[in-house]
Amino acid sequence: PEQNLHRDTIAAVATAPGRGGIGVIRLSGPQAREFARAICGEGELQPRRAHYRNFHHRGQLIDQGIALFFPGPHSFTGEDVVELQGHGGPVILDQLLHAAIDLGARQARPGEFSERAFLNDKIDLAQAEAIADLIEAGSAQAARNAMRSLQGIFSEKIESLVENLTHLRIYVEASIDFPEEEIDFLADGKVAADLDALLHQLAQVEAEARRGSVVREGMRVAIAGRPNAGKSSLLNALAGREAAIVTELAGTTRDILREYIDIEGMPLHIADTAGLRDSPDRVEQIGIARAWEEIRGADRVLLVVDAERANSLDPEQAWPEFTAQLPDPEKLTLVLNKIDLTDYTAGLLAHTDGVPVIAISARTGAGLESLRDHLKHCMGYSGAAEGSFSARRRHLEALAEARAFIQQGAAQLRSAGAGELLAEDLRRAQQALGEITGAVTADELLGKIFGSFCIGK
Ligand code: GDP
Ligand code: ZN
Repeated sequence: PEQNLHRDTIAAVATAPGRGGIGVIRLSGPQAREFARAICGEGELQPRRAHYRNFHHRGQLIDQGIALFFPGPHSFTGEDVVELQGHGGPVILDQLLHAAIDLGARQARPGEFSERAFLNDKIDLAQAEAIADLIEAGSAQAARNAMRSLQGIFSEKIESLVENLTHLRIYVEASIDFPEEEIDFLADGKVAADLDALLHQLAQVEAEARRGSVVREGMRVAIAGRPNAGKSSLLNALAGREAAIVTELAGTTRDILREYIDIEGMPLHIADTAGLRDSPDRVEQIGIARAWEEIRGADRVLLVVDAERANSLDPEQAWPEFTAQLPDPEKLTLVLNKIDLTDYTAGLLAHTDGVPVIAISARTGAGLESLRDHLKHCMGYSGAAEGSFSARRRHLEALAEARAFIQQGAAQLRSAGAGELLAEDLRRAQQALGEITGAVTADELLGKIFGSFCIGK
Protein backbone atom coordinates (compact mmCIF):
# COMPACT_ATOMS: atom_id res chain seq x y z
CA PRO A 1 0.00 0.00 0.00
CA GLU A 2 0.83 3.69 0.19
CA GLN A 3 3.18 3.27 3.10
CA ASN A 4 5.48 1.19 0.88
CA LEU A 5 6.09 4.12 -1.45
CA HIS A 6 7.71 6.14 1.30
CA ARG A 7 10.12 3.60 2.64
CA ASP A 8 13.64 4.49 3.54
CA THR A 9 16.62 2.75 1.99
CA ILE A 10 18.08 -0.10 3.98
CA ALA A 11 21.55 -1.62 3.87
CA ALA A 12 23.21 -4.69 5.37
CA VAL A 13 26.05 -7.13 4.94
CA ALA A 14 24.37 -10.07 3.20
CA THR A 15 27.15 -12.63 3.51
CA ALA A 16 27.97 -14.59 6.66
CA PRO A 17 30.26 -12.91 9.20
CA GLY A 18 33.90 -13.88 9.01
CA ARG A 19 36.42 -13.94 6.18
CA GLY A 20 35.83 -15.23 2.69
CA GLY A 21 36.70 -14.67 -0.93
CA ILE A 22 33.73 -12.40 -1.50
CA GLY A 23 31.51 -10.34 0.78
CA VAL A 24 28.25 -8.73 -0.31
CA ILE A 25 26.55 -5.53 0.83
CA ARG A 26 22.93 -5.22 -0.13
CA LEU A 27 20.92 -2.02 -0.44
CA SER A 28 17.17 -1.76 -1.01
CA GLY A 29 14.90 1.24 -1.31
CA PRO A 30 14.27 4.38 -3.35
CA GLN A 31 17.81 5.74 -2.86
CA ALA A 32 19.73 2.48 -3.36
CA ARG A 33 20.88 3.46 -6.83
CA GLU A 34 21.91 6.96 -5.76
CA PHE A 35 23.96 5.70 -2.79
CA ALA A 36 25.60 3.02 -4.92
CA ARG A 37 26.53 5.61 -7.49
CA ALA A 38 28.18 7.73 -4.82
CA ILE A 39 30.24 4.73 -3.74
CA CYS A 40 31.00 3.38 -7.23
CA GLY A 41 31.44 6.63 -9.19
CA GLU A 42 31.84 6.48 -12.98
CA GLY A 43 28.28 7.10 -14.16
CA GLU A 44 25.04 5.14 -14.06
CA LEU A 45 24.74 1.46 -13.17
CA GLN A 46 22.94 -0.38 -15.97
CA PRO A 47 20.13 -2.69 -14.81
CA ARG A 48 21.15 -6.31 -14.23
CA ARG A 49 24.70 -5.84 -15.52
CA ALA A 50 27.93 -6.52 -13.72
CA HIS A 51 30.09 -3.43 -13.31
CA TYR A 52 33.65 -3.74 -12.14
CA ARG A 53 34.27 -0.63 -10.01
CA ASN A 54 36.37 0.97 -7.31
CA PHE A 55 34.36 1.48 -4.12
CA HIS A 56 35.21 4.67 -2.28
CA HIS A 57 33.79 6.99 0.29
CA ARG A 58 34.73 10.61 1.14
CA GLY A 59 37.68 10.46 -1.21
CA GLN A 60 39.08 7.27 0.23
CA LEU A 61 39.40 4.03 -1.74
CA ILE A 62 37.90 1.14 0.26
CA ASP A 63 37.83 -1.83 -2.11
CA GLN A 64 37.24 -2.87 -5.68
CA GLY A 65 34.57 -5.28 -6.86
CA ILE A 66 31.34 -5.84 -8.72
CA ALA A 67 28.24 -3.67 -8.51
CA LEU A 68 24.84 -5.02 -9.59
CA PHE A 69 21.68 -2.97 -9.94
CA PHE A 70 18.21 -4.56 -9.96
CA PRO A 71 15.53 -1.91 -10.58
CA GLY A 72 12.18 -2.36 -8.84
CA PRO A 73 9.65 -3.82 -9.16
CA HIS A 74 11.54 -6.74 -10.76
CA SER A 75 13.88 -7.28 -7.85
CA PHE A 76 13.84 -9.51 -4.79
CA THR A 77 12.26 -6.86 -2.55
CA GLY A 78 10.24 -5.22 -5.31
CA GLU A 79 12.22 -2.00 -4.74
CA ASP A 80 15.46 -0.79 -6.32
CA VAL A 81 18.18 -3.14 -5.07
CA VAL A 82 21.95 -2.83 -5.37
CA GLU A 83 24.50 -5.46 -4.46
CA LEU A 84 28.10 -4.52 -3.94
CA GLN A 85 30.40 -7.53 -4.06
CA GLY A 86 33.69 -6.72 -2.43
CA HIS A 87 36.36 -8.79 -0.75
CA GLY A 88 35.05 -10.85 2.13
CA GLY A 89 36.85 -9.28 5.08
CA PRO A 90 34.94 -7.91 8.09
CA VAL A 91 36.77 -4.56 8.11
CA ILE A 92 36.14 -3.90 4.40
CA LEU A 93 32.48 -4.87 4.62
CA ASP A 94 32.04 -2.75 7.72
CA GLN A 95 33.55 0.25 5.91
CA LEU A 96 31.28 -0.28 2.90
CA LEU A 97 28.21 -0.60 5.10
CA HIS A 98 29.15 2.55 6.99
CA ALA A 99 29.66 4.41 3.73
CA ALA A 100 26.07 3.53 2.78
CA ILE A 101 24.78 4.56 6.22
CA ASP A 102 26.77 7.78 6.10
CA LEU A 103 25.10 8.56 2.77
CA GLY A 104 21.66 8.16 4.39
CA ALA A 105 20.84 4.44 4.34
CA ARG A 106 19.56 2.76 7.46
CA GLN A 107 21.00 -0.48 8.83
CA ALA A 108 18.44 -3.20 7.99
CA ARG A 109 16.75 -5.15 10.75
CA PRO A 110 16.95 -8.97 10.66
CA GLY A 111 14.81 -10.29 7.82
CA GLU A 112 13.88 -6.83 6.61
CA PHE A 113 14.70 -7.54 2.94
CA SER A 114 12.40 -10.58 3.01
CA GLU A 115 9.79 -8.57 4.90
CA ARG A 116 9.81 -5.94 2.15
CA ALA A 117 9.53 -8.69 -0.46
CA PHE A 118 6.44 -9.92 1.41
CA LEU A 119 4.92 -6.45 1.88
CA ASN A 120 5.45 -5.71 -1.81
CA ASP A 121 3.71 -8.97 -2.79
CA LYS A 122 6.82 -10.55 -4.30
CA ILE A 123 6.43 -13.62 -2.06
CA ASP A 124 3.85 -14.71 0.48
CA LEU A 125 4.55 -15.42 4.11
CA ALA A 126 5.05 -19.18 3.73
CA GLN A 127 7.59 -18.48 0.98
CA ALA A 128 9.41 -15.93 3.11
CA GLU A 129 9.66 -18.51 5.88
CA ALA A 130 10.92 -21.02 3.33
CA ILE A 131 13.89 -18.74 2.58
CA ALA A 132 14.89 -18.86 6.25
CA ASP A 133 14.30 -22.63 6.31
CA LEU A 134 16.42 -23.11 3.21
CA ILE A 135 19.33 -21.22 4.73
CA GLU A 136 18.98 -23.03 8.04
CA ALA A 137 18.33 -26.50 6.56
CA GLY A 138 20.15 -29.20 8.50
CA SER A 139 19.74 -31.95 5.91
CA ALA A 140 19.45 -32.36 2.16
CA GLN A 141 15.80 -33.37 2.48
CA ALA A 142 14.99 -30.30 4.61
CA ALA A 143 16.64 -28.11 1.98
CA ARG A 144 14.67 -29.79 -0.83
CA ASN A 145 11.42 -29.24 1.08
CA ALA A 146 12.23 -25.60 1.76
CA MET A 147 12.94 -25.13 -1.94
CA ARG A 148 9.53 -26.60 -2.80
CA SER A 149 7.85 -24.22 -0.35
CA LEU A 150 9.80 -21.31 -1.77
CA GLN A 151 8.57 -22.22 -5.23
CA GLY A 152 5.05 -21.86 -3.87
CA ILE A 153 3.97 -25.51 -3.69
CA PHE A 154 2.73 -25.23 -0.11
CA SER A 155 1.07 -21.86 -0.82
CA GLU A 156 -0.74 -23.29 -3.85
CA LYS A 157 -2.27 -26.02 -1.70
CA ILE A 158 -3.43 -23.47 0.84
CA GLU A 159 -4.84 -21.26 -1.90
CA SER A 160 -6.73 -24.17 -3.40
CA LEU A 161 -8.28 -24.85 0.02
CA VAL A 162 -9.19 -21.19 0.42
CA GLU A 163 -10.77 -21.16 -3.03
CA ASN A 164 -12.98 -24.16 -2.30
CA LEU A 165 -13.85 -22.69 1.06
CA THR A 166 -14.82 -19.40 -0.59
CA HIS A 167 -17.16 -21.13 -3.05
CA LEU A 168 -18.88 -22.87 -0.18
CA ARG A 169 -19.16 -19.65 1.81
CA ILE A 170 -20.78 -17.86 -1.11
CA TYR A 171 -23.30 -20.67 -1.47
CA VAL A 172 -24.10 -20.79 2.25
CA GLU A 173 -24.34 -17.03 2.64
CA ALA A 174 -26.54 -16.68 -0.41
CA SER A 175 -28.91 -19.23 1.10
CA ILE A 176 -29.06 -17.25 4.33
CA ASP A 177 -29.91 -14.08 2.43
CA PHE A 178 -32.81 -15.83 0.72
CA PRO A 179 -34.47 -17.65 3.60
CA GLU A 180 -37.29 -19.07 1.51
CA GLU A 181 -34.65 -21.17 -0.25
CA GLU A 182 -32.76 -22.10 2.89
CA ILE A 183 -34.84 -25.20 3.44
CA ASP A 184 -33.78 -26.56 0.08
CA PHE A 185 -30.17 -25.73 0.67
CA LEU A 186 -30.10 -27.61 3.94
CA ALA A 187 -31.91 -30.60 2.54
CA ASP A 188 -30.08 -31.04 -0.75
CA GLY A 189 -26.93 -32.51 0.81
CA LYS A 190 -24.59 -30.46 -1.38
CA VAL A 191 -23.23 -28.46 1.54
CA ALA A 192 -22.60 -31.56 3.63
CA ALA A 193 -20.82 -33.22 0.71
CA ASP A 194 -18.72 -30.11 0.05
CA LEU A 195 -17.77 -29.92 3.72
CA ASP A 196 -16.65 -33.55 3.59
CA ALA A 197 -14.57 -32.96 0.50
CA LEU A 198 -13.00 -29.91 2.09
CA LEU A 199 -12.08 -31.82 5.24
CA HIS A 200 -10.58 -34.56 3.12
CA GLN A 201 -8.45 -32.09 1.19
CA LEU A 202 -7.41 -30.39 4.40
CA ALA A 203 -6.39 -33.70 5.99
CA GLN A 204 -4.07 -34.41 3.05
CA VAL A 205 -2.38 -31.03 3.29
CA GLU A 206 -2.09 -31.45 7.05
CA ALA A 207 -0.43 -34.87 6.74
CA GLU A 208 2.04 -33.52 4.21
CA ALA A 209 2.75 -30.45 6.35
CA ARG A 210 3.34 -32.64 9.38
CA ARG A 211 5.90 -34.68 7.49
CA GLY A 212 7.53 -31.47 6.29
CA SER A 213 7.69 -30.13 9.82
CA VAL A 214 9.30 -33.33 11.06
CA VAL A 215 11.96 -33.18 8.33
CA ARG A 216 12.65 -29.55 9.18
CA GLU A 217 12.99 -30.09 12.89
CA GLY A 218 14.23 -33.68 12.92
CA MET A 219 12.05 -36.60 13.91
CA ARG A 220 11.90 -37.30 17.64
CA VAL A 221 12.11 -41.02 18.26
CA ALA A 222 11.63 -42.52 21.71
CA ILE A 223 12.87 -46.04 22.43
CA ALA A 224 10.62 -47.58 25.06
CA GLY A 225 9.93 -50.97 26.56
CA ARG A 226 10.41 -53.19 29.56
CA PRO A 227 13.76 -53.39 31.34
CA ASN A 228 16.25 -55.65 29.53
CA ALA A 229 14.30 -55.69 26.27
CA GLY A 230 17.40 -54.27 24.59
CA LYS A 231 16.56 -50.55 24.34
CA SER A 232 20.04 -49.30 25.08
CA SER A 233 21.51 -51.91 22.74
CA LEU A 234 19.21 -50.63 19.99
CA LEU A 235 20.24 -47.02 20.57
CA ASN A 236 23.90 -48.04 20.35
CA ALA A 237 23.28 -50.07 17.21
CA LEU A 238 21.53 -47.15 15.50
CA ALA A 239 24.09 -44.61 16.68
CA GLY A 240 26.90 -46.94 15.66
CA ARG A 241 28.76 -46.46 18.93
CA GLU A 242 28.54 -47.17 22.63
CA ALA A 243 26.42 -44.29 23.84
CA ALA A 244 24.24 -46.08 26.35
CA ILE A 245 25.25 -48.51 29.08
CA VAL A 246 24.17 -52.05 28.28
CA THR A 247 23.92 -54.44 31.21
CA GLU A 248 22.10 -57.53 32.26
CA LEU A 249 20.76 -55.72 35.31
CA ALA A 250 17.24 -54.46 34.88
CA GLY A 251 16.69 -50.75 35.53
CA THR A 252 20.12 -49.53 34.44
CA THR A 253 18.95 -46.68 32.22
CA ARG A 254 17.27 -44.49 34.79
CA ASP A 255 17.34 -41.21 32.99
CA ILE A 256 16.93 -40.30 29.38
CA LEU A 257 19.85 -40.63 27.06
CA ARG A 258 19.71 -38.67 23.83
CA GLU A 259 21.55 -39.12 20.57
CA TYR A 260 21.38 -37.17 17.36
CA ILE A 261 21.83 -39.41 14.38
CA ASP A 262 21.59 -38.94 10.68
CA ILE A 263 20.27 -41.64 8.39
CA GLU A 264 21.20 -40.68 4.83
CA GLY A 265 20.70 -37.02 5.58
CA MET A 266 17.53 -37.56 7.60
CA PRO A 267 17.85 -35.99 11.06
CA LEU A 268 16.72 -38.07 14.03
CA HIS A 269 16.71 -37.21 17.72
CA ILE A 270 16.69 -40.57 19.45
CA ALA A 271 16.07 -41.01 23.16
CA ASP A 272 16.68 -44.15 25.18
CA THR A 273 14.29 -44.22 28.13
CA ALA A 274 14.08 -46.03 31.44
CA GLY A 275 12.53 -49.50 31.30
CA LEU A 276 8.80 -49.41 31.95
CA ARG A 277 7.83 -51.58 34.90
CA ASP A 278 6.33 -51.26 38.36
CA SER A 279 9.14 -50.47 40.70
CA PRO A 280 9.28 -49.57 44.38
CA ASP A 281 12.53 -47.68 43.76
CA ARG A 282 11.91 -43.91 43.92
CA VAL A 283 14.73 -43.01 41.56
CA GLU A 284 13.54 -45.57 39.06
CA GLN A 285 9.98 -44.25 39.37
CA ILE A 286 11.16 -40.77 38.44
CA GLY A 287 13.02 -42.23 35.47
CA ILE A 288 9.85 -44.01 34.36
CA ALA A 289 7.78 -40.83 34.67
CA ARG A 290 10.31 -39.04 32.48
CA ALA A 291 10.20 -41.92 30.03
CA TRP A 292 6.44 -41.43 29.67
CA GLU A 293 6.91 -37.73 29.08
CA GLU A 294 9.40 -38.49 26.32
CA ILE A 295 7.12 -41.11 24.79
CA ARG A 296 4.18 -38.71 24.67
CA GLY A 297 6.22 -35.99 23.00
CA ALA A 298 7.81 -38.25 20.39
CA ASP A 299 6.98 -38.31 16.68
CA ARG A 300 7.69 -42.05 16.67
CA VAL A 301 7.79 -44.55 19.51
CA LEU A 302 9.81 -47.73 19.11
CA LEU A 303 8.41 -50.21 21.60
CA VAL A 304 11.14 -52.81 22.07
CA VAL A 305 9.89 -56.25 22.98
CA ASP A 306 12.15 -59.16 23.85
CA ALA A 307 11.22 -61.79 21.26
CA GLU A 308 11.95 -64.63 23.70
CA ARG A 309 9.61 -63.18 26.28
CA ALA A 310 7.04 -62.25 23.68
CA ASN A 311 6.87 -65.90 22.65
CA SER A 312 6.04 -67.12 26.09
CA LEU A 313 3.75 -64.19 26.86
CA ASP A 314 0.15 -64.02 25.94
CA PRO A 315 0.76 -61.64 23.04
CA GLU A 316 -2.29 -59.58 23.85
CA GLN A 317 -0.78 -58.80 27.22
CA ALA A 318 2.44 -57.53 25.76
CA TRP A 319 1.43 -54.03 24.83
CA PRO A 320 -2.27 -53.11 25.17
CA GLU A 321 -1.59 -51.31 28.48
CA PHE A 322 1.11 -49.45 26.65
CA THR A 323 -0.91 -48.48 23.59
CA ALA A 324 -3.76 -47.38 25.82
CA GLN A 325 -1.49 -44.74 27.32
CA LEU A 326 -0.16 -43.43 24.04
CA PRO A 327 -1.81 -40.19 22.91
CA ASP A 328 -1.53 -41.29 19.29
CA PRO A 329 -1.28 -45.08 18.69
CA GLU A 330 -0.46 -44.34 15.06
CA LYS A 331 3.00 -43.31 16.18
CA LEU A 332 3.83 -46.77 17.48
CA THR A 333 6.21 -49.32 15.96
CA LEU A 334 6.85 -52.67 17.63
CA VAL A 335 10.48 -53.70 17.52
CA LEU A 336 10.87 -57.39 18.21
CA ASN A 337 14.43 -57.70 19.49
CA LYS A 338 16.83 -60.63 20.10
CA ILE A 339 15.66 -62.64 17.10
CA ASP A 340 19.10 -64.26 17.18
CA LEU A 341 17.88 -66.19 20.22
CA THR A 342 14.53 -67.38 19.05
CA ASP A 343 12.25 -68.11 16.15
CA TYR A 344 9.53 -65.62 16.87
CA THR A 345 6.16 -66.96 15.97
CA ALA A 346 3.75 -65.60 13.45
CA GLY A 347 1.09 -65.88 16.16
CA LEU A 348 2.50 -62.81 17.80
CA LEU A 349 2.22 -60.80 14.63
CA ALA A 350 -1.46 -61.64 14.34
CA HIS A 351 -2.25 -59.56 17.39
CA THR A 352 -0.70 -56.27 16.46
CA ASP A 353 -3.83 -54.59 15.07
CA GLY A 354 -2.06 -52.94 12.19
CA VAL A 355 0.84 -51.69 14.28
CA PRO A 356 3.99 -52.10 12.20
CA VAL A 357 6.40 -54.77 13.48
CA ILE A 358 10.11 -54.89 12.70
CA ALA A 359 12.13 -57.91 13.84
CA ILE A 360 15.74 -57.19 14.71
CA SER A 361 18.74 -58.29 16.69
CA ALA A 362 20.51 -55.35 18.26
CA ARG A 363 23.38 -57.75 18.91
CA THR A 364 23.95 -59.10 15.37
CA GLY A 365 22.54 -56.12 13.51
CA ALA A 366 19.96 -58.23 11.69
CA GLY A 367 16.91 -56.24 10.65
CA LEU A 368 18.45 -52.84 11.42
CA GLU A 369 18.38 -51.92 7.76
CA SER A 370 14.63 -52.56 7.64
CA LEU A 371 14.22 -50.47 10.77
CA ARG A 372 16.12 -47.57 9.18
CA ASP A 373 13.99 -47.86 6.03
CA HIS A 374 10.89 -47.92 8.18
CA LEU A 375 11.94 -44.73 9.99
CA LYS A 376 12.63 -43.04 6.68
CA HIS A 377 9.21 -44.10 5.48
CA CYS A 378 7.51 -42.78 8.66
CA MET A 379 9.12 -39.46 8.07
CA GLY A 380 7.90 -39.26 4.50
CA TYR A 381 11.54 -39.27 3.54
CA SER A 382 12.30 -40.39 0.05
CA GLY A 383 15.16 -39.85 -2.30
CA ALA A 384 12.59 -39.32 -5.06
CA ALA A 385 11.75 -35.86 -6.33
CA GLU A 386 8.17 -35.82 -4.99
CA GLY A 387 8.89 -35.32 -1.28
CA SER A 388 7.11 -32.81 0.89
CA PHE A 389 7.34 -29.09 1.56
CA SER A 390 8.79 -27.18 4.44
CA ALA A 391 6.25 -26.48 7.17
CA ARG A 392 6.51 -24.97 10.60
CA ARG A 393 4.63 -25.55 13.82
CA ARG A 394 2.77 -22.29 13.19
CA HIS A 395 1.44 -23.71 9.91
CA LEU A 396 0.33 -26.95 11.56
CA GLU A 397 -1.51 -24.98 14.23
CA ALA A 398 -3.31 -22.87 11.63
CA LEU A 399 -4.31 -25.98 9.67
CA ALA A 400 -5.61 -27.65 12.82
CA GLU A 401 -7.56 -24.52 13.70
CA ALA A 402 -9.13 -24.41 10.24
CA ARG A 403 -10.06 -28.09 10.53
CA ALA A 404 -11.68 -27.54 13.95
CA PHE A 405 -13.83 -24.69 12.58
CA ILE A 406 -14.95 -26.68 9.56
CA GLN A 407 -15.78 -29.69 11.73
CA GLN A 408 -17.72 -27.47 14.11
CA GLY A 409 -19.59 -25.94 11.20
CA ALA A 410 -20.45 -29.38 9.85
CA ALA A 411 -21.75 -30.37 13.28
CA GLN A 412 -23.90 -27.22 13.44
CA LEU A 413 -25.37 -28.08 10.09
CA ARG A 414 -26.21 -31.65 11.13
CA SER A 415 -27.66 -30.89 14.53
CA ALA A 416 -29.43 -27.58 14.11
CA GLY A 417 -29.37 -26.94 10.40
CA ALA A 418 -27.93 -23.61 11.44
CA GLY A 419 -26.79 -21.79 8.31
CA GLU A 420 -25.63 -18.63 10.12
CA LEU A 421 -23.40 -20.54 12.51
CA LEU A 422 -21.94 -22.57 9.66
CA ALA A 423 -21.20 -19.39 7.71
CA GLU A 424 -19.38 -17.92 10.69
CA ASP A 425 -17.32 -21.08 11.20
CA LEU A 426 -16.32 -21.12 7.55
CA ARG A 427 -15.28 -17.49 7.74
CA ARG A 428 -13.03 -18.25 10.70
CA ALA A 429 -11.58 -21.33 8.99
CA GLN A 430 -10.64 -19.17 6.03
CA GLN A 431 -9.02 -16.67 8.35
CA ALA A 432 -6.90 -19.42 9.93
CA LEU A 433 -5.71 -20.55 6.50
CA GLY A 434 -5.00 -16.95 5.54
CA GLU A 435 -2.49 -16.69 8.36
CA ILE A 436 -0.30 -19.28 6.65
CA THR A 437 0.26 -17.32 3.47
CA GLY A 438 -0.07 -13.96 5.18
CA ALA A 439 -3.35 -12.97 3.49
CA VAL A 440 -4.49 -12.25 7.04
CA THR A 441 -1.78 -11.33 9.50
CA ALA A 442 -1.25 -9.32 12.62
CA ASP A 443 1.80 -7.02 12.72
CA GLU A 444 2.88 -8.79 15.86
CA LEU A 445 3.09 -12.11 14.00
CA LEU A 446 5.12 -10.52 11.20
CA GLY A 447 7.53 -9.05 13.74
CA LYS A 448 7.97 -12.46 15.31
CA ILE A 449 8.57 -14.25 12.02
CA PHE A 450 10.96 -11.79 10.39
CA GLY A 451 12.72 -10.99 13.66
CA SER A 452 14.05 -14.54 13.75
CA PHE A 453 15.76 -14.17 10.35
CA CYS A 454 19.39 -13.22 10.10
CA ILE A 455 20.52 -9.76 9.02
CA GLY A 456 20.92 -9.11 5.32
CA LYS A 457 18.21 -11.58 4.33
P1 GDP B 1 17.54 -52.27 28.13
O1 GDP B 1 17.37 -52.45 29.58
O2 GDP B 1 16.21 -52.40 27.43
O3 GDP B 1 18.23 -51.01 27.75
O4 GDP B 1 18.39 -53.50 27.59
P2 GDP B 1 19.93 -53.55 27.26
O5 GDP B 1 20.22 -52.93 25.95
O6 GDP B 1 20.71 -53.06 28.44
O7 GDP B 1 20.13 -55.12 27.07
C1 GDP B 1 19.78 -56.04 28.09
C2 GDP B 1 20.52 -57.34 27.83
O8 GDP B 1 20.06 -57.94 26.62
C3 GDP B 1 22.02 -57.16 27.67
O9 GDP B 1 22.67 -58.24 28.26
C4 GDP B 1 22.23 -57.20 26.17
O10 GDP B 1 23.50 -57.65 25.81
C5 GDP B 1 21.15 -58.17 25.75
N1 GDP B 1 20.71 -57.93 24.37
C6 GDP B 1 20.26 -56.77 23.85
N2 GDP B 1 19.92 -56.95 22.55
C7 GDP B 1 20.17 -58.25 22.25
C8 GDP B 1 20.01 -59.04 21.06
O11 GDP B 1 19.58 -58.59 19.99
N3 GDP B 1 20.37 -60.34 21.15
C9 GDP B 1 20.86 -60.89 22.30
N4 GDP B 1 21.18 -62.17 22.28
N5 GDP B 1 20.99 -60.16 23.42
C10 GDP B 1 20.67 -58.87 23.41
ZN1 ZN C 1 18.92 -49.48 28.97
